Amino acid sequence: MSAYPPLPTGPGPAVERVEDAGPRRRDTRLDSYVDRYAARTHGMTASAIRALFSVANRPEVVSLAGGMPNIADLPLDVVGQTLHELVAGNGMRAMQYGSGQGEPMIREVICEVMRLEGINAHPDDVTVTVGSQQALDLVTRIFCDPGDVVLCEAPSYVGALGVFRSFQCDVAHVAMDDQGLDPVALRESVTALRAAGRTVKFLYTIPNFHNPAGVSQSLERRTEILRVAEEADLLVVEDNPYGLLGFEGEPTPAMRSLSEDRVVYLGSFSKTFAPGFRVGWVLAPHAVREKLVLAQESATLCPPVFSQYAIAAYLESHDWRGQIKVFREMYRERRDAMLAGLADHMPAGMSWTVPAGGFFVWATLPAGLDSHAMLARAVTARVAYVPGTAFFADGFGSRFMRLSYCFPTPDRIIEGTRRLGEVLAYEAGVHATFGTSVDAGPGYPALAPYEAPGANQT
Ligand code: PMP
Repeated sequence: MSAYPPLPTGPGPAVERVEDAGPRRRDTRLDSYVDRYAARTHGMTASAIRALFSVANRPEVVSLAGGMPNIADLPLDVVGQTLHELVAGNGMRAMQYGSGQGEPMIREVICEVMRLEGINAHPDDVTVTVGSQQALDLVTRIFCDPGDVVLCEAPSYVGALGVFRSFQCDVAHVAMDDQGLDPVALRESVTALRAAGRTVKFLYTIPNFHNPAGVSQSLERRTEILRVAEEADLLVVEDNPYGLLGFEGEPTPAMRSLSEDRVVYLGSFSKTFAPGFRVGWVLAPHAVREKLVLAQESATLCPPVFSQYAIAAYLESHDWRGQIKVFREMYRERRDAMLAGLADHMPAGMSWTVPAGGFFVWATLPAGLDSHAMLARAVTARVAYVPGTAFFADGFGSRFMRLSYCFPTPDRIIEGTRRLGEVLAYEAGVHATFGTSVDAGPGYPALAPYEAPGANQT
């Protein structure tokens, strides 16, 4: 006999209509929920700099902080026409539920896009995600238990660190140099962690135009890292949203093109088309693909079908390779403005990376200055950046800052560096007079292939 009571028959109670919800109720005590939250939420904390960023978004502030793609060069009329035709011609399919793995036609297009970086993949091994951010979430979800270790570059992408934290993983940072992740440091790190009894689940790396470090791995470097991964039997998660936005020559072959079974590759249309569609993907070894699709089904049932159709239609009707060239030129002009502004306005002792693509410059401050502590002063001087501490899981990084050149116009970028130079000069003066203490980081070297003119003169 069933233990469940019989379901009621007949019409249910009338649904009460709420005419006016009135003012928002304020009588809920926030702390009454604290004991109910799952342990995995403990690492989900709002960044201390969020409040400053609401000010940083004001028009009078030059924001070198955000990493928003500049989609002003997109032909909105073409996109609009494509969407119109999509709804009129194929709306019933495009607005329906779809496959948990993603629509077959977009998985084919994705394979075509990946071919530009030397990847030879089958659409069956691609899982479509809600941006590559969700790809990070799904990969961590299927591989990591609380307490597992994920290896990340020092520094690493702030959004990935948030995902790893939310799955209660420990992040171990591995040093970089101006060629990206250091394979010797990687080998030492894996060995030391395993000797200490830790479970290392994967290496998370951004080989092209690193966010935030701005550097790229050479082909030799990729090969060396993969050799270390092979010897250590380490899975590699290759995050590559910027790979097609290089300013010089052809793209470097992706790590996935050099090793099929060891690399889980993450891609995205956010930077090569538009982030608002929220379409990214994972290319995983076949055996892993199955688990990813199950994880995707439980997270979303299926990734947004309309977005996938929209992207496929846009790629079919528009010269997307030509469009990526337009983006590249636009970002190159902005990168040049950033480098020129830094060369003109940074104080002695400051150094920064020279990105050959992507959105970001990583700057190392003169000894003793603290990018976190000086952010409020910078915003008052109407310029914003992201302090280096955001990109480390271990609280270090206050000697660094990330400067984005992707969004402001070249003139504004130069003006931003001028304002930043004034703030830094002031801070340097305060430091020279009173001294400040600042962490030097746990042995991570400064990424400094370029010195400001005159930097060695003091
Ligand atoms: N990885 C890196 C390195 C990024 O910089 C970003 C976006 N800033 C993402 C992943 C996520 O991008 P999306 O979800 O828009 O594809």
